[in-house]
Amino acid sequence: MVGIDFVDIFNLCGLNTDKRRGNLCCPFCRKWSFTDYGDGKAHCHSCKWSGNAFKLYAALESITYEEAREHLIKEFKIGRIKIRKKTYEEAYDSVASDLDFLARARLYFEFYKHRRRNKKYYQDKLDLSRSHFSKIINGDFDKVSKEMWIKSLSYLRQTLDLKQLEADLNKGVNYWKDSIKEEGLLEQVNKFK
Ligand SMILES: [Zn+2]
Repeated sequence: MVGIDFVDIFNLCGLNTDKRRGNLCCPFCRKWSFTDYGDGKAHCHSCKWSGNAFKLYAALESITYEEAREHLIKEFKIGRIKIRKKTYEEAYDSVASDLDFLARARLYFEFYKHRRRNKKYYQDKLDLSRSHFSKIINGDFDKVSKEMWIKSLSYLRQTLDLKQLEADLNKGVNYWKDSIKEEGLLEQVNKFK
């Protein structure tokens, strides 16, 4: 894993480091679609730029990849940091943590139904077919590519507000009282007298 955060590169180049829905503003297409995958690579969902921190810096400074690498290693004193593969144990832990997250994500969609963005919204944002998206949401990691899995999980982790879900669940019956009110269904309750 390259020990450089993409935000650090943005800072170094004087770019805006604000995030919207977890994404940075892409320096190439200016859309808020620049996602750091946390595995040393970033990808823009709009213009499809993808690469590591060295490639990004090279493009922004119009220098070669090697020059960028040399400069950043000096700049960030990252020395001999290498992109290394995860060990089996690390991969096992990270798949288990993804499955835990997805179980909560399924609860999120079921709980909110139409009250928040539905699955279709995320499916479209990720540019996935319905069938691929449901395989991911259902945690069938044996049925999708590693790339698709990482990209989707990273996006969902950044955009699904699971803290909000927990808070709303904890409101118990009061959450539903508010939602009956907000959806203008108070009159309809008479039916159940
Ligand atoms: Zn872009």
